[in-house]
Amino acid sequence: MTQSMRFDGKVVIVTGAGNGLGRAYALQIAERGGKVVVNDLGGATDGKGSDSAAAQKVVDEIKSKGGQAIANFDSVATQAGGANIFKTALEAYGRVDSVIANAGILRDRSFAKMSLEELDIILDVHLRGTFFTVQPAFNWMRENGGGTIVVTTSPSGLFGSFGQANYCAAKMGIVGLMRTLAIEGAKGGVKINALAPTAATRLTATAGMPGEQAGEDDPASDAMSVRRVSPLVLALAHESCPSSGEVFNAGCGWISRTVMAVNDGVVLSQYTPEEVAVHWGVIRDAANLRVPRDGTDYWNMIQKATGQA
Ligand code: NAD
Repeated sequence: MTQSMRFDGKVVIVTGAGNGLGRAYALQIAERGGKVVVNDLGGATDGKGSDSAAAQKVVDEIKSKGGQAIANFDSVATQAGGANIFKTALEAYGRVDSVIANAGILRDRSFAKMSLEELDIILDVHLRGTFFTVQPAFNWMRENGGGTIVVTTSPSGLFGSFGQANYCAAKMGIVGLMRTLAIEGAKGGVKINALAPTAATRLTATAGMPGEQAGEDDPASDAMSVRRVSPLVLALAHESCPSSGEVFNAGCGWISRTVMAVNDGVVLSQYTPEEVAVHWGVIRDAANLRVPRDGTDYWNMIQKATGQA
């Protein structure tokens, strides 16, 4: 297949691009002509420490293959860090066409034993980190003809996962943030979507799943290769992306979409909890699901169901 999906002249920020999924995105976008800001704090999977080698190594790899990239070592978890990542792109390349907010860590613990520190650091890196990284570029894109943004959620966040209450709350928060930015960015030509990836990386190794493997760069030899996820991310980051405000899943080469949907439900006439109890079957039914476009669309559904429309 020819490489028709090119990033020539485009500037793409990838956070957490020193390892795993982010590294794969950065390398492939650069292979396709994009100029990449390779951000990475270079800490451990629990967020401790920092090392400029992580981002620099990926920049060196891109350059050795003839691509263009610049390193940034800021943490996404502070507003100053987010601003500086954007500044790195603007000073080096004069524009920003796409942001892939991917940086992440884990601090797993059962909810009963989870500390405030374990909650805060996960919210800081994932939820607030996405906010801090996306906001400067989002504002610039709206004033400069638009762009694309990919934020990173997780199957754990979407569907729940034992021992990850902090992470799941952050990852679902990112979905809410993304849904609203799709609405607020539409007029300025900003498209934003969320990815829920599944791939073997050093992060999954800490969660009892397969970790990085020798073949992780090779989609043909490793079912959980990051390169079985990255094609979706490149398609979402590309200007041709047809979608905004949606959540996509990618793992082992399976690409799919997750939706928030509403069933037919029931309209009360007695307005009592007993009436609710009588109808639990219909209320909980997962058939005939519809996907509201936004909060206003959901309000229209209420009006239609209750005959007010
Ligand atoms: P990874 O550990 O290989 O890569 C994450 C990178 O983010 C690391 O290089 C790390 O140094 C960097 N990072 C961490 N905190 C940072 C900070 N404050 N500022 C800047 N960089 C920081 O992990 P991965 O599996 O490639 O994860 C990438 C993203 O995908 C994460 O958001 C993760 O939650 C999400 N995710 C991954 C999977 C999976 O199966 N691998 C599943 C669901 C979600």
